[in-house]
Amino acid sequence: MLRWHPRPEDLRSAKYPLILQPLITAEDAESHVHALERREVPTQKGHSAYMPIRFVPFEKISKHYKLMLAFDALVLWKASGQMPTKGTIIHGLQHTILGLRLDTLIHEVQLLVGKLRALLSESIPPDPVLIKHCSECEFETYCRKRVAEKDDLSLLDSLSVTERAKLNAKGIFTVTQLAYTFRRAAAPNVWHHAKRSITMLSRLSQFETKDSHSREARVSNQGNTSLS
Ligand code: SF4
Repeated sequence: MLRWHPRPEDLRSAKYPLILQPLITAEDAESHVHALERREVPTQKGHSAYMPIRFVPFEKISKHYKLMLAFDALVLWKASGQMPTKGTIIHGLQHTILGLRLDTLIHEVQLLVGKLRALLSESIPPDPVLIKHCSECEFETYCRKRVAEKDDLSLLDSLSVTERAKLNAKGIFTVTQLAYTFRRAAAPNVWHHAKRSITMLSRLSQFETKDSHSREARVSNQGNTSLS
């Protein structure tokens, strides 16, 4: 969809009362903002008259959505030179309105963006760590393969981030290392994770076999198409 790209001077002068689905860009960042609503003229210099609005279909609003709104606000700030101080999330079946103060959230997003910039500036991509959202991600096959090659602890989906960090602090980074620490009587939790890892790895090998079969089938189909 073609998105409108408002000019910085129009954002600064708050020319429009409502801007729907603008594409805001600043430096190396861009945000597909859902809407900007003009509020009363701010009393403090450097503050924006626009309030970013985000629409979320869910009833429960997690921190993730608040940070997305703060990212909209951060890019608007950088594009216009004026910082939005308040934002709104409209969510759920009843279109519940959640008003948020943005200063602390924007600061948090700035730190996250800084970390992302540092990661992107490295020549080698970071190693993937599997999370619960991987099943919805287009890179799942690639990441699972890399994680399996590394035998990374994130293969154990029953292991929380905190548990994994604790094991890493003890120098345990792989499923094999974890299995060596296993003593059934003394550590029933580790036994539980080890059992899940075996199930997980066997599922993974089935998944990879299926994936390679479908890839072969695709190659064969493409060959047939080009020949016909
Ligand atoms: S599949 Fe890879 S890129 Fe996608 S969420 Fe998981 S780790 Fe991240």
